[in-house]
Amino acid sequence: MSARAPYYTEDHDRLRETVRRFVQREIAPNIDAWDEAGAFPRELYAKAGELGVLGLGFPEPLGGLPCDPFHRIVVTEELARVGSGGLVAGLMSHGIALPPIVALGDEALQHKVVPRVLRGEAVAALAISEPDGGSDVANLRTTATRDGDDYVLRGSKTFITSGMRADFITVAVRTGGPGMAGISLIVVEGDRPGLTRTPLSKMGWWCSDTATLYFDECRVPAANLVGKENQGFLGIMQNFNGERLAIASMAIAFSQTCLDEALAWARDRQTFGKPLISRQVIRHKLVDMAQRIECTRAWLEQLAWRVQQGQWPIADVCMLKNAATQCLEYCAKEAVQILGGAGYIRGAKSERIYRETKVLSIGGGAEEIMKELAAKQLGY
Ligand SMILES: Cc1cc2nc3c(=O)[nH]c(=O)nc-3n(C[C@H](O)[C@H](O)[C@H](O)COP(=O)(O)OP(=O)(O)OC[C@H]3O[C@@H](n4cnc5c(N)ncnc54)[C@H](O)[C@@H]3O)c2cc1C
Repeated sequence: MSARAPYYTEDHDRLRETVRRFVQREIAPNIDAWDEAGAFPRELYAKAGELGVLGLGFPEPLGGLPCDPFHRIVVTEELARVGSGGLVAGLMSHGIALPPIVALGDEALQHKVVPRVLRGEAVAALAISEPDGGSDVANLRTTATRDGDDYVLRGSKTFITSGMRADFITVAVRTGGPGMAGISLIVVEGDRPGLTRTPLSKMGWWCSDTATLYFDECRVPAANLVGKENQGFLGIMQNFNGERLAIASMAIAFSQTCLDEALAWARDRQTFGKPLISRQVIRHKLVDMAQRIECTRAWLEQLAWRVQQGQWPIADVCMLKNAATQCLEYCAKEAVQILGGAGYIRGAKSERIYRETKVLSIGGGAEEIMKELAAKQLGY
């Protein structure tokens, strides 16, 4: 029986061991250098693809592997041990780019895109946010106009994870009238004429590439349309549910990494002739961190179980995302404080995580937007 029953089985434990070994061998020795360099090598996708990490949860005929929401939690927890959200976001950007193609796309498009990405031979990104606004998705402005057998894209997207290196970009475009009923999703290959991209520098997530994309009369075949014209909004919303659960899972996993580092430091560090952990105030900080993590993780696991039962409790997912990112902001702040000066110096996991907290409470639906959506769902 798994140590974390009832949700986890020995199958989850085996996956945990496999991913842990992969992280120790391939990522841990390099992550600091990759983050400073602002990129991790492309070969890492192929290595993760070979291991099956990229394919988890995607259909087997497309090269995926069956999994439940707890397998995903396990992978996130193990990847988070090195304390780099940029690594998780960049390596797993297909996790937001491919689900709409799998859910809505026709077979030809699925087979063209999905297997190559899951093998790690190609990189996928999702492009919804625009310079004029990210939260107000229903009013996005990038257009795709039908012209013979093509669509012609005009407009731009920004803050796009894996935007510079992506070979396939799932782009939200306006094909119809105003509002949500005029939105479609279309796949744009990275080498299409008319697509240019510029990199963005960030507060954190340094090793994840983030880009602004410009579509200037960018022509793509009509066969790249994901599902039916003007029916993309539903795909975007369904995708957000999965992304928000994944962000909550990341936030909790990184909170745990902060606690682990702060606990180890407090045991080791001597101040005024005694170990730091002998001070009540420090022990209480650690307990406050653990308490928030345990509460939020219990909620995550309960919602993961409900998703496994076929439910999508939208209000709960929104509130969990906020609870988890607030937990992370608290834990990162306290971990840096416990580490003292060492927590401010590069090389400490908590230093990096501290810089990476904000992106989780902004990306995938900002905190304020999550509250609005939850209120609407709850009928408040
Ligand atoms: C590192 C990084 C990676 C990202 N990766 C991707 C990606 O891969 N793909 C993608 O499409 N996007 C991506 N994003 C974009 C992200 O999803 C958006 O930043 C987010 O949705 C918020 O949009 P915005 O930045 O335009 O903020 P805005 O929509 O301009 O909002 C600004 C602030 O105002 C608040 N606000 C907005 N409207 C209201 C309101 N009505 N009431 C109260 N408060 C309001 C928001 O909550 C936010 O705090 C990424 C962002 C970052 C920083």
